[in-house]
Amino acid sequence: MDPIRIAVVGVGKIARDQHLPAIAGTPAFSLAATVSPDDRGPDDSIAHLESLEELLDKGPAIDAVALCTPPQVRYGLAAMALRRGIHVFLEKPPGATLSEVAALRERADKVGATLFAAWHSRFAAGVAPARAWLSERRITKVSIVWREDVRVWHPGQAWIWEPGGLGVFDPGINALSILTHILPRAVFLKAATLSIPANRAAPIAADLVLCDTTGAPIHMDLDWRQTGPQSWDIIVETDAGTLRLSQGGAVLSLPSGTEHNEDLEYPGLYSRFANLIRGGRSDVDIDPLRLVADAFLRGRRESVEAFYD
Ligand code: NAP
Repeated sequence: MDPIRIAVVGVGKIARDQHLPAIAGTPAFSLAATVSPDDRGPDDSIAHLESLEELLDKGPAIDAVALCTPPQVRYGLAAMALRRGIHVFLEKPPGATLSEVAALRERADKVGATLFAAWHSRFAAGVAPARAWLSERRITKVSIVWREDVRVWHPGQAWIWEPGGLGVFDPGINALSILTHILPRAVFLKAATLSIPANRAAPIAADLVLCDTTGAPIHMDLDWRQTGPQSWDIIVETDAGTLRLSQGGAVLSLPSGTEHNEDLEYPGLYSRFANLIRGGRSDVDIDPLRLVADAFLRGRRESVEAFYD
């Protein structure tokens, strides 16, 4: 079977750190081109273009694109690719609004192309075994603590503070993608407080009160002002003891012991994308983005100290 010719659009941090190595390591794909407005591209042997429009007009020919841009421009790029019947991998979050993701889904179905809303944290090593273990338990309480230093992880990323950039929900949506995947029942938001720096449009911290459909309480503490040790932890209390996912889902602790397996998030995503394309299917789960949208819809906003990079 011929490899799927793919272009990476938006060659920033995540494309360089994860997408390009994962594509190079997945025989189902061959990298055909890279696209980014302001640089020369990461590899002189691969065609590099300044825009997706230019790539689609001038070639080389591609079958798929991975959109690794900020979310605010993703809809336009995805719609342009789908119009040509090109399969689309959407980095998380899949869009800046729920309605644009729904419109993309409809368009993909109409043209018979694959649309994949990728949630990389769901492919962290501890997540699948956590989901299997929880499927047979009664959940009594969940606590999420996602605290990191924005200056370390997002230096100079202006888009992240703009409307549609999500602020602290940019990492927080990863926790929500795990939560909605491992819990056996639907989750919804009851209340939220969003702390927004006086000079920015997006929150630097958020406190979320959620529950599942049995009423089990879920609390989420998100903060970008954390210096020192960083926390990406989900603790689920059940009738059979406590499950703890730490390091963003990489490490799983159960009453029977702790598992720490190899990180295969992006290879896992590309293997899934290849299977979807070969099977003529899409995978567009909007649950994590919907919870973020609900926090913006239902949350109380408080203005906090201005933030400067
Ligand atoms: P980034 O470092 O700011 O990179 C974004 C890239 O997109 C830049 O190279 C930018 O080019 C390019 N770009 C912007 N508009 C474009 C357009 N219209 N066409 C083509 N390229 C365009 O951001 P990032 O950290 O890689 O994050 C990108 C996405 O990946 C975000 O949605 C984020 O949530 C997700 N993600 C990031 C991480 C992470 O660890 N950073 C992890 C997982 C997922 P210019 O710089 O020239 O404008």
